[in-house]
Amino acid sequence: MAEIKKKQTAVIGFPLSHSLSLLLHNSIYAAEKISAQMRAVANQDVAALVKQIRETPFELIAVTIPHKQTIMSFLDEIDATVKAIGAVNTVINKKGKLFGYNTDVVGITKALESIAIQGKDILVIGAGGAALAAGYYIQQKRGNLFCLNRSLKHASAFIQKFGGHIATPLMLREKHFDLIINATPIGMAPNSSESPLPNYTFNSNQIIFDLIYNPFETRFLKEAKITGAKIISGLTMLIAQGLEQERLWYGKKLNHEKYERIVRNTLTRTI
Ligand code: NAP
Repeated sequence: MAEIKKKQTAVIGFPLSHSLSLLLHNSIYAAEKISAQMRAVANQDVAALVKQIRETPFELIAVTIPHKQTIMSFLDEIDATVKAIGAVNTVINKKGKLFGYNTDVVGITKALESIAIQGKDILVIGAGGAALAAGYYIQQKRGNLFCLNRSLKHASAFIQKFGGHIATPLMLREKHFDLIINATPIGMAPNSSESPLPNYTFNSNQIIFDLIYNPFETRFLKEAKITGAKIISGLTMLIAQGLEQERLWYGKKLNHEKYERIVRNTLTRTI
């Protein structure tokens, strides 16, 4: 009997050693009996990755650091949310035509669903693909945005897009931020001894959200937690944005809690 070929999906980026996308998506395929397999394809060259997507072909592609913005010009169509955010984290290959979506914003919405944003002072650290999704969400919810980023050029573009201010070192010392979001890879495994704000004084009235999910609790979150601040790990976002990717591709709405439990159990066993 001829073997039924599994549909191929992929996570693309560089590096990919930290990524839990394989674990999440392959757990979904096994549990939901979807005949598919996700592979990790690490490459710094986005053009080479797009060529590989078309040739394999990969049907669903999770796009991660550093390709979320650069992949956009290679796609055939992008949706309205991608246009507003300026970053893609999901590509769906529909019979050779590549469609770009952004499910990071769905992940951020889930992670921050119980947090009041309107009128609050919110610091976003970073101005890359994930930070843009966070900026878009906060703009929609009418928060007061501040952006801190290594490159001033990217911080200025972020502020131009969503409004708000560039954060200064003085602000970090003297201003109260209600919510701080780390949207950089600083503190991500294997560099988990690092923090995006190593000398910052947190307080118990703050909410600290780190988009990093590996480790589950970063140094940034641990230091905030000691002061009594509320902390939010990137894991909830990871699961919500990944389930939305599967909904867009496979058309099935999946149970968030079930898959958060599976990924969290694996994370705590391996770290
Ligand atoms: P990206 O598009 O490459 O942007 C990275 C951002 O971090 C840029 O603003 C960059 O600054 C800054 N940055 C990078 N390395 C730095 C360093 N050594 N020092 C200071 N700043 C640095 O990446 P991304 O896709 O937005 O991802 C950012 C982080 O969010 C990653 O850790 C990723 O794993 C995480 N993430 C998590 C989820 C989730 O579901 N939980 C989803 C998406 C992303 P410049 O502008 O100066 O280059």
